[in-house]
Amino acid sequence: MKVRIGTLVMRCLACQAEEWRPSDASAPLSLLSEVICLGCGARPSCGDLALQLPLVDEPAADAAE
Ligand SMILES: [Zn+2]
Repeated sequence: MKVRIGTLVMRCLACQAEEWRPSDASAPLSLLSEVICLGCGARPSCGDLALQLPLVDEPAADAAE
């Protein structure tokens, strides 16, 4: 399955895979849920993944000089 937070699909930092499975399939997915990377077996929580999100490119108010 894919894990989305907002409009972003979470990727494994270790292997860049986007496919996960919940470690507890009977529980509803939340930020506290642990998910298992199908690529490498890493087990971050969804909250961990959210923390790894790159800062969204905000249109910076860039006052040039
Ligand atoms: Zn992985």
